[in-house]
Amino acid sequence: TLPDKLNFIEEIIEESIRQGEPRIHTRFPPEPNGYLHIGHAKSICLNFGLAKKYNGKCNLRFDDTNPVKEDVEYVDSIKEDIQWLGFQWDGEYYASDYFEKLYLWAEELICKGLAYVDNQTQEEIRLNRGTVQKAGVDSPYRNRTVEENLQLFRDMRAGKYADGAMVLRAKIDMAHPNMLLRDPLMYRIIHTDHHRTGSSWCIYPMYDYAHGQSDSIERITHSICTLEFDVHRPLYDWFIEKLNIFPSHQYEFARLNLNYTVMSKRKLLHLVQEGYVSSWDDPRMPTICGLRRRGYTPASLRLFAEKVGVAKRDNVIDLGLLEWCVREDLNKSAQRRMAVLDPIRVVITNYPQEKVEYIECVNNPEDVQAGTRSVPFSRNLYIDRDDFMENPPKKYFRLQPGGEVRLRYGYLIRCEEVIKEADGKVVELRCSYDPQSAHGESSDGRKVKGIIHWVEQKAAVEAEVRLFDRLFVSEDPEEGDGYLANLNPDSLKVVKGYLEPSLAQAIVGEKFQFERIGYFTADYDHTKERPIFNRTVGLKDSWSK
Ligand code: ATP
Ligand code: MG
Ligand code: MG
Repeated sequence: TLPDKLNFIEEIIEESIRQGEPRIHTRFPPEPNGYLHIGHAKSICLNFGLAKKYNGKCNLRFDDTNPVKEDVEYVDSIKEDIQWLGFQWDGEYYASDYFEKLYLWAEELICKGLAYVDNQTQEEIRLNRGTVQKAGVDSPYRNRTVEENLQLFRDMRAGKYADGAMVLRAKIDMAHPNMLLRDPLMYRIIHTDHHRTGSSWCIYPMYDYAHGQSDSIERITHSICTLEFDVHRPLYDWFIEKLNIFPSHQYEFARLNLNYTVMSKRKLLHLVQEGYVSSWDDPRMPTICGLRRRGYTPASLRLFAEKVGVAKRDNVIDLGLLEWCVREDLNKSAQRRMAVLDPIRVVITNYPQEKVEYIECVNNPEDVQAGTRSVPFSRNLYIDRDDFMENPPKKYFRLQPGGEVRLRYGYLIRCEEVIKEADGKVVELRCSYDPQSAHGESSDGRKVKGIIHWVEQKAAVEAEVRLFDRLFVSEDPEEGDGYLANLNPDSLKVVKGYLEPSLAQAIVGEKFQFERIGYFTADYDHTKERPIFNRTVGLKDSWSK
């Protein structure tokens, strides 16, 4: 077989290897201010995947430079999610471990005349930065002496000033065409304890000052980030050049966007805090823990990352691709079971009253190793309301008055009588069965096209079945009045299902295909006494329809 076509990041890496790069070292740098989502999964698969492919290393680095929004709860969840996805980092690092080093480098830049303390207010700094059309205005504090800057910066660190009183800025060019190079902020004063460094610091570095230097400290060769950081690259390079330290390089790829999905951590946090969803791991959330609870597998998310590929331009991926990936994986691995989610009773009038027989059912036609199980059968069954129509159109092959259908793994039955409630709702079907038809044949060779699933009434396990749908009604959740206005009011429907008995024994997280319905997993709250199943995804084309 031909090797797969390289993506553009792989081309860059292979070119640097040809140029003599002796090793490949990537990193995944989450800020611990929320749970990871499917976009992060893409970045994880890319960074860890490249390290694996090129025999290199990948660090996990917590980009924990803003104490206000960060927490250990998030650190722990991030580690759990990466490992669950199937990756293991080579080094575990924290940008906060570099605070002292970063501080000393800032003093070095001050000494080189490349940084200064600015007392302007946030508002003045913003206004004096100018616009794309108009050069900025130099701060009146821009030409402080090195000694004065050093003293002020040390006093900032020592806690002599209040939040916002002054900042440290790089001294670059207030007329630079790239706005990010108009004397960018390096440090601000925040009198807030940090989840790792406690009260040691009251000045914290900005992302742009911390990120490249952290890469350099770890001798990262390929620092891969999303496209919106391309304008930051000159600044990334500027700090490294002026400090004359290990030259890490930044490369940008298009972030993952999914339709019907929001991916900003701020918005996801809002959904949790305001109770629009139950938690970060609500199965409707695009978080890795939400997808896990929904029934997604690590392999399905890795497959998704691979299918999405690595793009140079922003695009929006269809949620259907993610659903396709989990079907693809579960089709191979999930055992089949029968379940009825909207029941009609069936009485097989010519089947012996008290008799129960056990029918062998194939666990997974895609996997012979999965074996068989026996499922009870009697004269009282449930079938799904969907599988019966009183006045069907032509080519309807499921059950209809006077019509015949095969019960999955079982007999042919014919509908003889329809029993309705006063309001006309069908509640029971009186049927007859062909005793000769147990093994796929009818007694006289007549052909029956439809096959439907069923569950024996007495042995059925009653379960709470959570039918999840998209969290947003619009492809672009931001359109119109914004994402909160576009929430899908029917994103969760809870029904009582009747399941074949073995499903009570399911363990939490176990995955099944409910035949002809979809893929389901036992929820975290599932117990034998109170079974609960989540619908991961429906079957696109069910085999008998
Ligand atoms: P958010 O905007 O949701 O807060 P973020 O990018 O600030 O996300 P980080 O914790 O900084 O979140 O992200 C860690 C890494 O994951 C970064 O390298 C970032 O580029 C990458 N990443 C985040 N979102 C996506 C996405 N949608 N697609 C691909 N990579 C992403
Ligand atoms: Mg970020
Ligand atoms: Mg962010």
